[in-house]
Order: sequence, then C-alpha cells, then structure tokens
Amino acid sequence: MEEIEKFKEEILKEYERLSLDSEFNFACHPGVACYNQCCADINIFLTPYDIIRLKNALGMTSQEFLSEHTVSPFDKNLKYPVILLKMNEDEKKTCPFVGEKGCGVYENRPWACRMYPLGMASPKEGSAELDDDFYFLLEEGFCKGHKENKTLTVAKWLEDQGINEYNKMGYYFKELTLHKFFQEGENLSPKKIEMFFLACYNLDSFRDFVFKSSFFDKFDVEETTKKAIEKDDIELLKFGYSWLRFALFGEETIKVKKEALEAKQKQLDAKEAMKANAESVAKERRRKGKK
Ligand code: SF4
Ligand code: SF4
Repeated sequence: MEEIEKFKEEILKEYERLSLDSEFNFACHPGVACYNQCCADINIFLTPYDIIRLKNALGMTSQEFLSEHTVSPFDKNLKYPVILLKMNEDEKKTCPFVGEKGCGVYENRPWACRMYPLGMASPKEGSAELDDDFYFLLEEGFCKGHKENKTLTVAKWLEDQGINEYNKMGYYFKELTLHKFFQEGENLSPKKIEMFFLACYNLDSFRDFVFKSSFFDKFDVEETTKKAIEKDDIELLKFGYSWLRFALFGEETIKVKKEALEAKQKQLDAKEAMKANAESVAKERRRKGKK
C-alpha cells in the first residue's frame, strides 16, 4: 500500500490537473485493436457501492460475492480494509466478467472501470468535498483509445459513464476513509476493523446483524428508517456509514437509547467497584505481608 501512496504522490506532482471543462481525446469500442486487453491483470479496488451493484446484478448475497470474486489484501500499513476484484487464475489473469463481446457486467461495472482513462484525486488529505476533486488523464501504452478521433470534456465522460451516481455514494465513503481520525495517525482495533468490513462490504450480513441482534434495543432508530433499510441496500449502506461514524469515531450520528446508556453506566460502575475492591484487597495483603 505504500507503493499506492507513492504512486498517488507522483500523480499529484506530475500529471496535469483537469477540470470538468477540460478536453481530451479518447474512444473505446469493439473496433479498437486492443479491445478487451485492459480487462486483465489489474488491481480494481471495489467501493461499497460497487459491491452492491455487482452482487445484485449477479443475484448473489454480499457474502457469496465477497467469497467468490474478491480478495482483501493484508497490509499492516492499511488504515481500513480494502477489497480488490479477484482476477481469474489463468495465464493472462483475465477479469472473470470479460467475454468476447466485452464486459459482462457493463451496466454495473465498477467505478474504476468506468473512470478509465481518467483518474480522480482529492487535492488535500482530509477533504471529502465532491467539488474539491480533480481529474487527470491516464495513458497506458497498450491503449489505442487515445488515438481515436473523438474529443470530449471530462464532464461529458463522467456523464456518459454514469460516474456521477457512483461519486455521490463515494462521498459518504470518503467521509469515513478521509476522516481526521485516520489523518491524525490513529488505528482501528481489530474489532472495529471487523465492524468497518461488515457495514461497508458485507451488507447482507450487516442487515442480519441489525435486524437479528439486540441492535434496536440499544439504538433509537425511527420506524421509517427501519422499513427503508430492511429492503433497500443503498439506504442500509448510508445507515451503516452513520453507525460506523458513531462506533469508530464517537460522533453523534446515531441515537443511543436511554436504557442502553443506563445499563452501560451500571456495567462501568460495577467494573470500577470491582477494580477498587481488588486494589483494596491487594493493599491489605501487602500491609499484612510487611508485619
Ligand atoms: S468489470 Fe468489466 S470493465 Fe471491469 S475489468 Fe472486468 S470486464 Fe473489464
Ligand atoms: S485498452 Fe483502452 S481502448 Fe483498448 S479496450 Fe481498453 S480502454 Fe478500450
């Protein structure tokens, strides 16, 4: 992941920053000599929204999709878990979704596949504002699309590729991943990493956790929200982001029930009392030992 950070730094330094009005030359269609060649041996990071779109398009649960089509690299430098699309184990390491006619999940292809040949970055760490983002042009040597005679603006490309919807959902995700907690060098505990993974990536299991545990005994959730998150993945994902901001960073993004707070306080008081008792017993033993 350090390599990714370095790569990002290089991009920010060396690539020309493009605005929405900037023009570039590009077209990709079955007639280009390199058609489908880019759909192999690449690292495609999947966002939570990518996973929703793909698992629903494939008729899979989030757990099935994660098991069959993704890998989650372990790296001690990672601040939070990331998910990569798993390539086939053939010689070319082709994407499992590519076929002779192109992308088999085209309508629901991931953000990264939609964006190419554009890259997107935020000018400063900690910035989660959509308007702060800027773009740059990636030119892979094998890609003949840059030689096609078609000029378009960044805004037109984003519109044609259906990116804006993905970016809107990406905004909520960036509120988590660019949170000052991470910018200040804090790390999540293993339990909190699991919570992050569950609410962001394994959405169907998160739904089970919310509806089949004592979740609603602890949190005050309106009936309309309960109805919305029971069926709607997007609403559940947004709810999950709010819950994570509460659980990971202590923000007041979700309301805790009074009874749950009181029970927690009782638990803490009991713990304190036990600690004080143990200290007093130890002190008495030391005193007797000295005699
Ligand atoms: S998801 Fe589709 S566009 Fe993306 S690499 Fe796979 S086949 Fe290509
Ligand atoms: S290499 Fe470029 S032009 Fe060729 S299929 Fe991929 S994106 Fe299209």
